[in-house]
Amino acid sequence: MRYSIFSLLRQALTGHQGWAPAWRDAAPKPAYEVIIVGGGGHGLSTAHYLAKVHGITDVAVLEKGFIGLGNAGRNTTIIRSNYLLPGNNPFYELSMKLWEGLEQDLNYNTMVSQRGVLNLYHSDAQRDSYVRRGNAMRMHGVDAELLDARDVRRMLPFLDFGNARFPIQGGLLQPRGGTARHDAVVWGYARAASGRGVDIVQNCEVTGFLWEGGRVAGVRTSRGDIRARKIGMAVAGNTSTVAHMAGLRLPIESHVLQAFVSEAIKPLVPCVVTYGAGHFYVSQSDKGGLVFGGNIDGYNSYAQRGNLPTVEDVCESGMALMPAIGRVRVLRSWGGIMDMSMDGSPIIDRTPVAGLYLNGGWCYGGFKATPASGYCFAHLLARDEPHEVARALRLDRFAAGRLLDEKGQGPQPNLH
Ligand SMILES: Cc1cc2nc3c(=O)[nH]c(=O)nc-3n(C[C@H](O)[C@H](O)[C@H](O)COP(=O)(O)OP(=O)(O)OC[C@H]3O[C@@H](n4cnc5c(N)ncnc54)[C@H](O)[C@@H]3O)c2cc1C
Repeated sequence: MRYSIFSLLRQALTGHQGWAPAWRDAAPKPAYEVIIVGGGGHGLSTAHYLAKVHGITDVAVLEKGFIGLGNAGRNTTIIRSNYLLPGNNPFYELSMKLWEGLEQDLNYNTMVSQRGVLNLYHSDAQRDSYVRRGNAMRMHGVDAELLDARDVRRMLPFLDFGNARFPIQGGLLQPRGGTARHDAVVWGYARAASGRGVDIVQNCEVTGFLWEGGRVAGVRTSRGDIRARKIGMAVAGNTSTVAHMAGLRLPIESHVLQAFVSEAIKPLVPCVVTYGAGHFYVSQSDKGGLVFGGNIDGYNSYAQRGNLPTVEDVCESGMALMPAIGRVRVLRSWGGIMDMSMDGSPIIDRTPVAGLYLNGGWCYGGFKATPASGYCFAHLLARDEPHEVARALRLDRFAAGRLLDEKGQGPQPNLH
């Protein structure tokens, strides 16, 4: 069923009795050409592009719970392509371009809102590094504008410009950055993939691999064994555990990242703002809640909830940037499991195990990558070679020393 003003009118006139479910909740078949493990944004977008771009529809997405209940439905919805390094920049810009056409592509309202992403700077050195990043972005055809304190004050007069320790000197703005409704992204991709024949199988946990002649030939699941020629992992925070089932040890650690939503207030924050003197970012949802977050909890964990010291740290940064935030009440907070790689950049590649492919290491920035990640992973699964914008995201970069360390933090996953 195509969504349009006409289908809406037809349903309105017939009591909304005729809406079909958005996607099929399929039962697993004994075998597929491709299995994707993980029904988050990345797994579902991979299935969509496999079917749409490469015509491969004999595909199953296996999800241990319900689709979108992992990080895809837990993130703070920021999308942007304001990257410095040539290995990252074209990849995230492809993602941004796919976001810009996503609603038409999926025929689904994913509420993509290009309200701008503003990174604040508080010192001359920080300004210089943002100038460098902005120039790199513009050289790659990405939009970037350097703002001074007066420009920022016009946009966001409620920030604490006179902060004695960290006065706001300006910011780097990507006007095309913004937010998208994360659940809708999951549902939109699921609907589009399912519409092309992909099986979305929920409550189907992968518990091991089937082997044949030294290569993987399928998966063991809580709903029985399923065979496949190719298997793609897109399990985000569970990457190391699923890879471990195939005997792989990856340069990835899992950490918790928390997010917070306040009670709804009148429109206040017009764009996404990130604090440059601590880890804090905030935007305002269309319902009015302030959506904010900060640092990951700095220890390894597979728990989907975090600790109070990090809550305190995030709130302190929020107060330093925007003292008025102290007057709003936090409605909800939650955590998700982040697959933190050793250089802070993701991996889209074959693994040393024949037939097994890897999509992971998204750290806390994988939501914005959802379209390009699926696009490039589908390319890899279909053609057995990396997509040109994902060439730098290969697994062997860790052994070869070609790290893609956007922040220059070194091999410290908790700092990326
Ligand atoms: C609090 C928070 C805020 C964030 N904010 C942002 C942001 O603003 N912008 C941004 O770009 N990124 C953000 N991220 C990161 C982003 O959400 C993730 O990088 C991205 O969602 C990961 O890809 P995914 O959507 O496929 O993951 P997930 O949705 O986690 O999908 C993985 C799926 O695999 C399933 N799975 C795991 N193991 C198995 C198994 N054995 N068998 C079957 N299925 C399995 C899981 O149940 C899960 O549904 C944030 C993350 C969090 C937690």
